[in-house]
Amino acid sequence: KLYNMVQDLKGNIRVFCRVRPIFNREMKGVIDYIGKDGSLFVVDPSKLQKDARKTFQFNQVFGPTSTQDDVYKETQPLIRSVMDGYNVCIFAYGQTGSGKTYTMSGPPGRSASEMGINYLALSDLFLICDKRRDMMTYEIYVQMVEIYNEQVRDLLAENFTCTKYPFIVPNIRTCSSEDDGLSLPDATMHSVNCTRDVLKLMEAGEVNRAVSSTSMNNRSSRSHSIFMVHVRGKDTSGGTLRSCLHLVDLAGSERVDKSEVTGDRLKEAQYINKSLSCLGDVISALAQKNSHIPYRNSKLTLLLQDSLGGQAKTLMFAHLSPEEDSFGETISTLKFAQRVS
Ligand code: ADP
Ligand code: MG
Repeated sequence: KLYNMVQDLKGNIRVFCRVRPIFNREMKGVIDYIGKDGSLFVVDPSKLQKDARKTFQFNQVFGPTSTQDDVYKETQPLIRSVMDGYNVCIFAYGQTGSGKTYTMSGPPGRSASEMGINYLALSDLFLICDKRRDMMTYEIYVQMVEIYNEQVRDLLAENFTCTKYPFIVPNIRTCSSEDDGLSLPDATMHSVNCTRDVLKLMEAGEVNRAVSSTSMNNRSSRSHSIFMVHVRGKDTSGGTLRSCLHLVDLAGSERVDKSEVTGDRLKEAQYINKSLSCLGDVISALAQKNSHIPYRNSKLTLLLQDSLGGQAKTLMFAHLSPEEDSFGETISTLKFAQRVS
């Protein structure tokens, strides 16, 4: 069966797939073939040769040997359009351990060549600022928040401590309704002028996120982290431009076994399932050009409302762990990707 996930090139929703390397050499993989045209063949390890192969189609597929630069090259046009006034939203979707954080931020202790999209995007935006200096002046601001159990928390607040949930951001509004264009006016905003500023903030945000996760047992895989970039531009004739780029490292999409978890873990899992399925609903409603888009069903979609739909451009990375024992989650990630395109 052929699932067609290729978008009309004029469409505003794109889906890329990235398969990380297999780390355990003993383990068999389920990815049979990756085509330059965006096709991906997956083999069901429990089935006999004949009907074991399933084909999926994406705008792009990146295999285990693809570098951060390979991935960024295909993402770059989208990111650059932010400087022309487009709102852009990029998501990393997939089970825990499939490479979402690797794509967005890079691995812990990353080297220059391992920087993820967040960093590469900002350094590209600064480059454009410089190139257009004679025609435009830009200002760039960032915010960084996480959504955990449907609460938004400011990861860049001064004096961040995790004891007792401080820095909850109460107010979400839809950007277009307000002059400053901010959906989270109460989350700390930092002006950034160079990549060094960005690195410092990213690191602070990551530390704050990690701090809360060690006290709560690997929580970082159970919250959505959102790096928000706001661009303000002014041209020489006084024209202005305002846009945002939202870079989202989603909570792990794995299903938890309801018979095994209770209490807080169950609640967490339910919140994640709900917000990821709301995200799927919103993107698939947009892809089908429905007149009603259900933004209000989750904090995540409400917060990202202005960078989803309308003139905004959306890119979803479907991340896959290629090992045999992840086959179930791999298929469910592929089905999600198929639904949103
Ligand atoms: P997630 O954020 O989805 O839970 P991670 O990004 O933390 O997953 O990735 C899990 C592990 O795999 C990390 O050790 C990460 O550095 C490594 N990894 C992920 N993707 C790649 C890749 N494309 N190339 C090399 N290592 C990767
Ligand atoms: Mg992660």
